[in-house]
Amino acid sequence: MVVSPRGDHQGQAIVRASWLYAAPEERERCPACESLRLSDLDLHEMWQAVNGRRTGFVEGCEDCGLVFVNPLPSDEAQATFYSPEGEWGRPRAADDPAPTAKASTRHGAAAWSRMFDAIRHLLPVTTPPAGVRVLDFGCGPGKLLDALQDCGWETFGIETAMERAFRRHRRLVAVPAEPTFDLIVASHVLEHLVNPLALLRQFASASKPGGYLLVSAPGFDALPLHREYKYVINGRAHLTAYTRACMDGLLARSGWQTVDHPGRNDSGAELRDARKLRVLARRASTSLPTPARPLEAARESLRLFYRHTAGRPPLQRLGFFRLSARLVETRRQIRRDIARIRYRLGLRARLLEIYRRCVGTRPAPHSRGTPRSRP
Ligand SMILES: [Zn+2]
Repeated sequence: MVVSPRGDHQGQAIVRASWLYAAPEERERCPACESLRLSDLDLHEMWQAVNGRRTGFVEGCEDCGLVFVNPLPSDEAQATFYSPEGEWGRPRAADDPAPTAKASTRHGAAAWSRMFDAIRHLLPVTTPPAGVRVLDFGCGPGKLLDALQDCGWETFGIETAMERAFRRHRRLVAVPAEPTFDLIVASHVLEHLVNPLALLRQFASASKPGGYLLVSAPGFDALPLHREYKYVINGRAHLTAYTRACMDGLLARSGWQTVDHPGRNDSGAELRDARKLRVLARRASTSLPTPARPLEAARESLRLFYRHTAGRPPLQRLGFFRLSARLVETRRQIRRDIARIRYRLGLRARLLEIYRRCVGTRPAPHSRGTPRSRP
């Protein structure tokens, strides 16, 4: 049993009632910062049953603000999922057409370069000085690298699911441990990871002093606006979710100072754009403060989301997620038992029917041939 502060508006401490219900292979620590101060935020229906249970949780860390599904997949399951033979990699490896012409990236330059407006006077990304290097982690087909290379960048990529980007760009199998890059990009990568903090720290080691990092992920703050819950977190590919406060805090913990939130998720933005959280950060030489209550934004976002949608069952509205999960699993168990009994009864009825047919069609011994006359 883990005792953790719920961190609700009254600030009351409650017991995270794992004795009432625990998801199979549930973690007790935050996968990023290792904190034990976890709070249940929602139920999560797992994609596959484990030990007969399918109910897990969406949880939040009170220390770093990370929102994640619990249980999380193992490292082996993750490696398989993203390999070229895996569920994620297979369709992407197959969809690997020839690269587009260089000139086609010119049209897109204005769009992507707007991400760097806040640092244009420090790092002119479209007219960079000689010798600047960029790493795109999870570069996909390499469209951003194509555009940066056209502007004069030395381009490097990391991608396990497809080959296309490496017809033009240098491939790395891991993030270098020494300062190498002026710019690192991780576009829609962190939500796929179990431990985003470990990767952000690797990026810090690979960045030159004063280098920049651009990260993007589905925006948890904007959930009440776009209402696409499964886009933000779904337990299949998107395992972790981020508010601005959480992302800024994780960046600060790993040696990055937030400079800008390009394309802010405010109501004035285009909805498609509003779904995304983007953060531009600079490698910091000193330790940085982290937000005081980093999980509050996620909690508020969920509250507003459920106000606009079908709402929550009363138990969950009151914060009794473990009791609610126990009831869900009990109902599922009862339905499963009834289905099993019905199946067995149906099978028994069918066997009886087959038996009756066999016995009923068999000719009786006295009906064969001409009946004998009794003496
Ligand atoms: Zn944490």
